[in-house]
Amino acid sequence: MTDSLRFIPLGGLCEVGMNCAALAWGDATIAIDCGVGFTDELGADMVHPNFGWLYEQGERLRAIVVTHGHEDHIGALPYFLKRFRVPVYAPPYAAALIQDRLAEHRLEDVELRVGAAGSRFKIGPFGIERFGVHHSIADATGLILDTPVGTVVHTGDFKIESEPCAGQRFDRKRLEEAARDGVRLLLSDSTGADVEGTSDLERNAETALEQWVARSPHRVVVATFSSNVFRLRAAFRIAREHGRKVCLLGMSVRKHTETASDLDLIPPVESVLVSAEEATTLPRDQVMIIAGGTQGERGSSLTRLAHEEHSYLHLSEGDTVIFSSRIIPGNELPVLDVINRFEERGIEVITRHEHPEIHASGHGSREEQRAMIRLLQPQAFVPVHGTHHHLRRHAELAREEGVTEIEILQNGSVLEVTRDSLAVVDSVPVGRVYVEGMEPLGDRVMEDRRAMASGGIVTILISIKDGKLRSSPRVLARGVVGNELRSPVEQKLADHVRSKLKGRRFTQPEKAEEAAIEAARRFLIHNHRKRPLITAVVDGGS
Ligand SMILES: [Zn+2]
Ligand SMILES: [Zn+2]
Repeated sequence: MTDSLRFIPLGGLCEVGMNCAALAWGDATIAIDCGVGFTDELGADMVHPNFGWLYEQGERLRAIVVTHGHEDHIGALPYFLKRFRVPVYAPPYAAALIQDRLAEHRLEDVELRVGAAGSRFKIGPFGIERFGVHHSIADATGLILDTPVGTVVHTGDFKIESEPCAGQRFDRKRLEEAARDGVRLLLSDSTGADVEGTSDLERNAETALEQWVARSPHRVVVATFSSNVFRLRAAFRIAREHGRKVCLLGMSVRKHTETASDLDLIPPVESVLVSAEEATTLPRDQVMIIAGGTQGERGSSLTRLAHEEHSYLHLSEGDTVIFSSRIIPGNELPVLDVINRFEERGIEVITRHEHPEIHASGHGSREEQRAMIRLLQPQAFVPVHGTHHHLRRHAELAREEGVTEIEILQNGSVLEVTRDSLAVVDSVPVGRVYVEGMEPLGDRVMEDRRAMASGGIVTILISIKDGKLRSSPRVLARGVVGNELRSPVEQKLADHVRSKLKGRRFTQPEKAEEAAIEAARRFLIHNHRKRPLITAVVDGGS
């Protein structure tokens, strides 16, 4: 068998979030990242890729290599590791977050191998080196993978800042060296492929934040992505210099502050921190509240402040809420609701919409993506992380830069890479697993919820004696038709099911249930064009 390198994305392509991909050579497979996506679809909290194909690799799967600590890259690790143990390689900040998450899920004995940018390790046939990239989290890395067909570079998520702030690292020299030796394939982050020019600088977002805090006459709430340690550090510095105490609202901001302090990424904060209760006793112009929940999430601190549901803190006229963040597409309505609720009470709201300088994205825009391609001069290019549109626009850039071997993949595509060819040769099954709380919901649960949410529910109660229908079934319909129609429809359904079951003999109660469901299903589609969830239950008598 002639070995070839295969790259198989399992999540994160033609969608946003859930990043996970496999790289395979011979009997060795590694996974790169293991992320979730957030959703409130039908009561689920998050969704992750279906890992069936990875599980099937069995012994061949050697490790999961994590690029950085964002949820769309590490969030699914506990769910994966519950079923299947492999070592996890992660940079320090991501490792601290992973460790915490594993403890929440009571997962012990996971082999976590920590290495910062610049570290090298070997897994099977792959020599792997991390390189530092600018991004909106500490310790973000890309991977230089030495493979039998040549060097493959995976950028992870990245931007390229012209004036980085302290702690941001971009290993340009190392990438130049890799380019000199030749890069067979570049896998590059496509998130910013729709944004012309270069992305805003983190340090400018810090300056803007400081100006708005300085201008705020009373309490100020800074709503930000808590995983952005640079912004968190900026908020603490600004609070200190403007004589404000800091109140942290929300698990996530507290967690990230603690992790960042432990890793010395932010200076000690104890002297400025106050509890929510203490914050209420301080003069209003001496308080900064840092709150999580920039996306209008149900139950988040910011949403609770907007709804006046916080036990101690109540914002009032003259206070200012600064969204040092962006709205992730799809979350517009809940975020607008939060903004409106603040504004209705005379609270000033500052957002990126009117003041673009208040937030800097963690993802490079087109010119940074172009710079990455120029820097590495890859033979072949595959855009990763993003919707099909993003991938396509990113591929355009590579073509403009003279790359001729380009493939746009989908989740499940098997890309075969040799020294002189690049082709999609196969596909593997992929899908989504929804999670509520900490528990995965099966496909069947989601199908049932979908049917109930869109069509309501019909329950048929059947009585059977000696295998035969004893009396007319009872039917309960909820959420199916308008109130006045409910009783007549229930009655008609009962009559119809009775007519279909009458005279038949059922060897098992399940057979009667199936027949009743099928009769009701056909009746409802044919007469009412309705497709509710239908359940049937046979009472005990046999
Ligand atoms: Zn990221
Ligand atoms: Zn990401």
